[in-house]
Amino acid sequence: MSPEPIPSPSGSPAPVRSSGRYSLWRLLAEGLRGQQGWRPAWRKPHPRPAYQVVIVGGGGHGLATAFYLAHEFGIRDVAVIERGPLGLGNVGRNTTIVRSNYFQPPNIRFYEYSLKLWEGLEHTLNFNAMVSQRGTLNLFHTEAQRDLFTRRANQMRLLGVDAVAVDRDEVRRLVPLADLDNGRYPVLGGFLQPRGGTVRHDAVAWGYARAASNLGVDIIEHCEVTGIRRDGGRVTGVETTRGFIGAETVCLAVAGSSSRLAAQAGLKLPIESHVLQAFVSEALKPVLDVVLTYGAGHFYVSQSDKGGLVFGGAIDGYNTYGQRGALPMAEEVTAAAVTLLPALARVKVLRQWGGVMDMSMDGSPIISHTPLAGLILNGGWCYGGFKAIPAGGMCTAHLIARDTPHPVAAHLDLERFAAGRTIDERGVGPFPYLH
Ligand SMILES: Cc1cc2nc3c(=O)[nH]c(=O)nc-3n(C[C@H](O)[C@H](O)[C@H](O)COP(=O)(O)OP(=O)(O)OC[C@H]3O[C@@H](n4cnc5c(N)ncnc54)[C@H](O)[C@@H]3O)c2cc1C
Repeated sequence: MSPEPIPSPSGSPAPVRSSGRYSLWRLLAEGLRGQQGWRPAWRKPHPRPAYQVVIVGGGGHGLATAFYLAHEFGIRDVAVIERGPLGLGNVGRNTTIVRSNYFQPPNIRFYEYSLKLWEGLEHTLNFNAMVSQRGTLNLFHTEAQRDLFTRRANQMRLLGVDAVAVDRDEVRRLVPLADLDNGRYPVLGGFLQPRGGTVRHDAVAWGYARAASNLGVDIIEHCEVTGIRRDGGRVTGVETTRGFIGAETVCLAVAGSSSRLAAQAGLKLPIESHVLQAFVSEALKPVLDVVLTYGAGHFYVSQSDKGGLVFGGAIDGYNTYGQRGALPMAEEVTAAAVTLLPALARVKVLRQWGGVMDMSMDGSPIISHTPLAGLILNGGWCYGGFKAIPAGGMCTAHLIARDTPHPVAAHLDLERFAAGRTIDERGVGPFPYLH
């Protein structure tokens, strides 16, 4: 079967070195001819000496940036440099929640743009990322919290984003497992974003990688960037474990390692690295069909299609690059879990892991030029970087291709910290561990 190109927005076909289009017909045809026609989802090229754009980090943001550079802006002389295999960073370690229920209007606009891109993503990529808009339900437990959530929901509605107030009866109907009347933190109600939900995280990495590779992007795995070379005030390329690779533009999309990579270029970022843990239970029959967030602690949970409960809480709260996490936070998360959903006390947790997070000084991300010409930063994602992958990739690609910020990401520049224009999403000040 001859592979079909991914259509470009202009309608003109893109040149293809393709793994082929996935469809029901292809599945049937391959079944009939002994599965002989499949090719690897993305190519494994050797690095070339130089590219127009080198993206460091093969996580969600790096791969999405590469894809949109090629697909939307026609820039295909691009390499994504990843130190390990694809998908083992935070893109494959998160709790898969997507939503746009933020408080600060510029953040609502940015995350809503991302949610809209999620809604068409599988079609755009020709890849099943299991986008599931099952709704995200945030519970409140005090009147003050209700007022705060109401303010947030009103901000969202003013910007045309879906937010629905639900009373206790509706919460009971949506989550029969929840104990609404526990003496300490009774549930008074909640806010539902019906379009929020989950997306299969590693499929996002695979889908973007496949589509970018099909458009000619080189994805170089097992290649660590060990230095950033500069000539005066301009970046000229990256030193790697597979040799020097020259570039007109270098984009850092390395999630929890942003400070370390920026330091290689002589830059100090307003970012700290922290660990965030996640947990998965044994598989259960369907018991939870929304994404549920507890308001009296930091606890969120959804049920995967395999049946496991996927849940997490807050960052551990100390600076680290260890992808582990410690027991006190595991205890806090499980305490919140059984307070809200007492039946979970009998459920076995199968797996636990940690991911290293860039926590910025205002809780909002950074998509920006840097003081070094040709060096672009995509980082500072805090808790929200998975849901932001489509918008983050699109806006970073826009910044690289057009040399001006995308309108929905103009507030995410690095200069805001020096200029006092911070986007303090939670209103807690310059304390990364509180965001
Ligand atoms: C436990 C947990 C739960 C989370 N839950 C959610 C959630 O439910 N919803 C949400 O929106 N967000 C969530 N997040 C946050 C989200 O996962 C991250 O913000 C986002 O994935 C980060 O962007 P990324 O995918 O590009 O990062 P990554 O996948 O980490 O990509 C960065 C890549 O850079 C590579 N790299 C680093 N240094 C180098 C180097 N020197 N050379 C080459 N490559 C390098 C790494 O190997 C890595 O693959 C969660 C995070 C964690 C840890």
